[in-house]
Amino acid sequence: MNGLNNGNLKLAIQKEGRLTGETLDFLWKSGLEFEASKQKLFSNCRNFPIEILYLRDNDIPKYVEEGIVDLGIIGQNLLYEKRPQVKKLLNLRFGFCSLVIAVPDDSPIKKIQDLKYSKIATSYPLSSKKFFKERNIQVELVEISGSAEISPALGVAQAIVDLSSTGSTLLLNELRMVEKVYDSEAVFIANKQLFTQRKKQFLEKLLLRFKGVLSAKNYKYVMMNAPENILPEIKKIVPGLKSPTIAPLVKVGWISIQTVIKEDIFWETIEKLKKIGASGIIVLPIEKIIT
Ligand code: AMP
Repeated sequence: MNGLNNGNLKLAIQKEGRLTGETLDFLWKSGLEFEASKQKLFSNCRNFPIEILYLRDNDIPKYVEEGIVDLGIIGQNLLYEKRPQVKKLLNLRFGFCSLVIAVPDDSPIKKIQDLKYSKIATSYPLSSKKFFKERNIQVELVEISGSAEISPALGVAQAIVDLSSTGSTLLLNELRMVEKVYDSEAVFIANKQLFTQRKKQFLEKLLLRFKGVLSAKNYKYVMMNAPENILPEIKKIVPGLKSPTIAPLVKVGWISIQTVIKEDIFWETIEKLKKIGASGIIVLPIEKIIT
């Protein structure tokens, strides 16, 4: 059945913006087959009972809280700012950014205490209020709906609280960061209770797929050759997901080893392996890991 009242899961994602591309890539990598189109309000999925709805990301927390949709993918910053009553199921490891306090390059303000009694423009009023309240710094927040970075130049505020990822927007607007409020990344959220048995069952399947994509992203598949006698040392350097696969080579006393290495310690591990005598190291990306 097509349409939206068919008992299928409903997942809301950002219609058009910074998270859209990576969200779609993530869903496709998870094996969901659907066409995304800018004109569409929603897509049916060919091989999974889920509808993907394209909404303004600011509206998604509320829709998920109220059960208008079951699931959502948004920036964690919206959870901090809007504090909806939803369940966070997973961090998705993309859409990284930070909420930062910034001032014009030539401002005398050096530390957050210097912001006392100043005007601060932001579209994150709750996060900002909490930050300054906890530090007992009295400021005047000017709530705006976007483009905070131009407000110091317009004379609206002496500082801004806004999202930044690479820092290039700050640089372009001759702003410098004074302090970070928090870090954020894309998260997968769900309505707190709404699920029917059928929806629960398919959410479990979806989570398995999402986790498979996330673990694959965190690991690399590694094949190498090594003299048999250094195997105990290799095992210490690369504990792997479980024990490595080992096969004898034609060259007497040599073996071939296949294992996985965590992305964040990848280079130091490879250097250690080379140092103790491993050679012919081949590294492959992993599509999915299902444990
Ligand atoms: P936008 O498309 O600008 O409405 O941003 C959507 C979401 O992308 C935000 O809520 C953040 O979670 C995330 N994001 C990642 N990097 C940035 C950035 N540099 N500026 C704004 N948002 C960002």
